[in-house]
Amino acid sequence: MAKISINLATGSLQKEEIIVGIDLGTTNSLIAFIDPDKKPKVINDTGKGILVPSIIHFNTAGEIVVGNEAREFLISDPANTIFSVKRLLGRSYKDVAEHLDTFSYQLIDDDDDSLVKIRAGNKFYTPIELSAEILKELKARAEHALKTPVNRAVITVPAYFNDSQRQATRDAGRLAGLNVLRILNEPTAASLAYGIGLDPTEEKTIAVYDLGGGTFDVSILSIQNGIFEVLSTNGNTFLGGDDFDRAIVHYWIEKNKLDSVAAKADPVLMQQLRLKAEEAKKALSSQNLFNEKLGEIWCTLDKQTFELLIEAKVTETLNSCKQAMADAKLSVAEIDEVILVGGSTRSPYVKAKVAQFFGRQPHDQINPDEVVALGAAIQADILAGNRSDVLLLDITPLSLGIETMGGLMDVIIPRNAKVPTKAGRQYTTSIDGQVNMKISVYQGERDLVQENRKLAEFELRGIPSMPAGLPKVDINFILNADGILTVQAIELRSGVKQEIAVKPSYGLTDDTVEKMLTDSITHAKTDVEQRMFIEAKGEGEQLVYTADRFIERNGNILTPEELTHTKLHITALKDALNGGNKDIILKKADELNEFTRPFAERLMDMAVSQSMKGKKID
Ligand code: ADP
Ligand code: MG
Repeated sequence: MAKISINLATGSLQKEEIIVGIDLGTTNSLIAFIDPDKKPKVINDTGKGILVPSIIHFNTAGEIVVGNEAREFLISDPANTIFSVKRLLGRSYKDVAEHLDTFSYQLIDDDDDSLVKIRAGNKFYTPIELSAEILKELKARAEHALKTPVNRAVITVPAYFNDSQRQATRDAGRLAGLNVLRILNEPTAASLAYGIGLDPTEEKTIAVYDLGGGTFDVSILSIQNGIFEVLSTNGNTFLGGDDFDRAIVHYWIEKNKLDSVAAKADPVLMQQLRLKAEEAKKALSSQNLFNEKLGEIWCTLDKQTFELLIEAKVTETLNSCKQAMADAKLSVAEIDEVILVGGSTRSPYVKAKVAQFFGRQPHDQINPDEVVALGAAIQADILAGNRSDVLLLDITPLSLGIETMGGLMDVIIPRNAKVPTKAGRQYTTSIDGQVNMKISVYQGERDLVQENRKLAEFELRGIPSMPAGLPKVDINFILNADGILTVQAIELRSGVKQEIAVKPSYGLTDDTVEKMLTDSITHAKTDVEQRMFIEAKGEGEQLVYTADRFIERNGNILTPEELTHTKLHITALKDALNGGNKDIILKKADELNEFTRPFAERLMDMAVSQSMKGKKID
């Protein structure tokens, strides 16, 4: 049933609701749509600007501002001003531990393997909730500018994002009230924006060089029959335009003979210098000299000096390109097109170096900080069926996945994936000595498996008895061209294996698919909230289990007082688990963790000194 609405902004009738394309960036985010002339366009809501800095500020009353307004608080209230949240999406504390010093806000490490949380104000937020705030802001701007509701979107992610990061992005979209039609690779989007890959007869190999504010990646893609295949990716998630700004700041500190220790201890001055440095860097993309004063400090920079300052970093990106080419087993002569993405590729030096490396002029006609959002809008248009010229491939109408902890649906092959396809994930046990694992396969978009369609169930038996978390069980979904799904489970340490085949489309009518999709949209918000609650609960329960076990085995290394307090913390967490409030559970889990962390260290120290005792020293 096609809905007809009037687009007040353009005064034209609109057959279908608008689908937007969103670039959810580490530094900046933006949103684009296809205008009635069929051209992709970025949205600039009443002069607020096209780029929305990916920054969120929470005040004491829990009120939230996003974008430029939030940026102001980086200096005055750093603990409650969240930036670069994209780095945390779908990541565990262990994943980001070595980069903790780059965050001015507090990350919670309740368990090395579970997903990170962020403390702001006095609440705990997941990166999903924080990213959803950015998406809500983009959605609101688009609705305001286009004067029409915006409910459907394509959101882009880096090609190297794993399943869990993609799922987190999807969840963030849903939490923001968006039906996420597809998660699209950023390099694919950039390619579409240049019209590369739209013609199904086209066969090409392309390189996409993306240098943003804090991250760099290069992707080598092969395009065939309208399908983009990532041949290789490489990069550095802690290298970008911010490094250029920092290099300029250090240069000015030296040139002005400032006491660098004192300067660095002055966050306001440092932030002012950083902003000035960014201004200088941008100016040098179109002129040869920047010459200004910041109070008594001379902020002078010429193009040549700037290029010397950034040379090492740019060389590093080219080394990544070299590696990506080697991994794709290609020579630069075999690359048909090179595309520049990311604001930092505006620097002529970067452009020149990339051109030199690939031996050809890269595409830079489209604004490099807009190109991904524009391509996402084109993909949205294709999914809306507005482009008869683009081949529609056989796709899976509903997501396929398995049941995990707490009855949650864990998607392995997402809806709209092209057929044939193959995907897999690794799982482990949650109880010590667990030797069997039940695998239940479901189809559908809801977060709780009970709302989805059950396709099959089997048991992987004979897992060797090990402590919880040690067995590694790979679950692979293989969907062949005839629509037959084979589910394989393999325990990697022992090699025990089990598999089953089903036909997901069996007994599935178009009406059912339609109903399942509309239900998932109606329930999106409650579903995501429920999922986050169940995940918090799972983590809390796991922590109680570990803490109880610790007391049972190693209680003797604690003083009676420590023992009592640990037990009190455990009880508090148990109460929270019964109480059913996600934030309280996370808070109590955090407290228990904080309190018991030194004990684990003590235990390790004791183990070391025990083994020393046993050694003969002479
Ligand atoms: P991300 O994809 O990480 O969100 P962007 O693609 O928006 O980031 O790139 C942001 C970076 O681009 C910042 O470091 C910014 O200073 C830099 N940048 C923006 N405009 C220019 C310019 N004219 N010259 C050089 N660098 C620029
Ligand atoms: Mg980007």
